[in-house]
Amino acid sequence: MSAFLIDGKAAARQLRERLAQDVSAFAKRHGRAPGLAVILVGTDPASEVYVRNKVLQTEEVGMHSFEYRLPADTPEERLLAQIDTLNRDDRVDGILVQLPLPAGIDVTRVIERIDPAKDVDGFTIANAGRLATGLDALVPCTPTGVMFLLRNLHPTLVGMNALVIGASNIVGKPMARLLLQERCTVTIAHSKTVDLEARCRQADILVVATGVPQMIPGDWVKPGATVIDVGISRIKQENGTTKLVGDVHFESAVERAGAITPVPGGVGPMTIACLLANTLSAAQRRTEVQSHL
Ligand code: NDP
Repeated sequence: MSAFLIDGKAAARQLRERLAQDVSAFAKRHGRAPGLAVILVGTDPASEVYVRNKVLQTEEVGMHSFEYRLPADTPEERLLAQIDTLNRDDRVDGILVQLPLPAGIDVTRVIERIDPAKDVDGFTIANAGRLATGLDALVPCTPTGVMFLLRNLHPTLVGMNALVIGASNIVGKPMARLLLQERCTVTIAHSKTVDLEARCRQADILVVATGVPQMIPGDWVKPGATVIDVGISRIKQENGTTKLVGDVHFESAVERAGAITPVPGGVGPMTIACLLANTLSAAQRRTEVQSHL
């Protein structure tokens, strides 16, 4: 039997529609729309595409977009000064520095310079720590998007066995923490995990974020499981053309899973929509804090 296909494009559209209404209500209440500032250093082609999409979608939901393009040889101090300016700018609720940064720039120093209240990527130590300890936080966008898809599908996740494959700071670790908050029993696997197959076979929820194309064969999937494929890689086919694939072997997994995200069109579209949601909630929090002062 073929699995239910989780339509990330439709879910992202729904979320953006809801956000557009909330943004308009915010603008009426506070006399300004929330603002998102994106900084791109250099001319990495993939980053250019991401930034263009972020700017377009920010404007589509009615938020202000501030775009800063700096040359690849920008000194770190210049980038830090730009972040300081945006931290002080009241029109800006969210600040995003597009990664990767050119070699020679200290990524941690740059991310840590962002005011945690404007850290809409959720990458600062303050936000990661708040999430880890169960406090209200700005949470990284991709795992937030995955939770949105899972909640649409399951009225409750309580007691489910969740396996997260991949332990990065931007996907795997925050993903595991969010699933733990939902009271799943969570395992995090990585490149040194022993007998990954046996762990996969026990997972009611399987989230894969390794960047290794098609590494999970369908027969590792527990029948009826929900499979969320975060990975996205371009592979060469026998006929010489290329195609985008995830970390799960989709054609075989779709025969065993209960529900599965396709690649593309699954997790990917949710990421930018959640960035916009984080920007609105950062704006709401900042405004509430100011009005209580
Ligand atoms: P990282 O490279 O930072 O982390 C990869 C993780 O996978 C590491 O923890 C690594 O283990 C683990 N890993 C690698 N190989 C294996 C293996 N053979 N078995 C088990 N675990 C393994 O990647 P990211 O988290 O940044 O991204 C992962 C994927 O998700 C990429 O394809 C990326 O393009 C995609 N992505 C998609 C997004 C979207 O919006 N759809 C957003 C962000 C990422 P170890 O810790 O031992 O090294």
